[in-house]
Amino acid sequence: MKIIPKLVPTVVKTVFKKPVTEQYPYEPPKPSPNIRGKIVYDVDKCVGCGLCAIYCPSGAIEMIMIKEVKRRIPIFHLDRCMFCHQCVEVCRFGAITGSREFEIAAYNKNELKIITPKERVKPLKVGEKK
Ligand code: SF4
Ligand code: SF4
Repeated sequence: MKIIPKLVPTVVKTVFKKPVTEQYPYEPPKPSPNIRGKIVYDVDKCVGCGLCAIYCPSGAIEMIMIKEVKRRIPIFHLDRCMFCHQCVEVCRFGAITGSREFEIAAYNKNELKIITPKERVKPLKVGEKK
């Protein structure tokens, strides 16, 4: 029982100490500057080469053909994505960039797809410089 008086200062100190863990979601998170978050796709820079889909280790990228403009573009399935940013590395045209956004939970799986509306996809011009 001699140990109890020795513990009292530590207990009192701990009670009034700020918690070490972040009180997320009540406090805004402070992600690391190097965090790999949601990917961002720019259809205007994409040439439809499909390299991102080939190199994605999760099979999260599907290439689709937009018949109206005779052009292939990727669809990103974020429910399969593990945010490795391999697609960012392999895209030579800067069409995919990595963001720091990590809050992507959704009730519906379809909300986790990055699909470019057809109206946004313009035909590729041959010899066009990117
Ligand atoms: S996003 Fe980049 S790697 Fe993927 S199809 Fe378009 S140009 Fe190719
Ligand atoms: S971040 Fe990784 S897992 Fe996600 S789409 Fe890109 S290559 Fe695939």
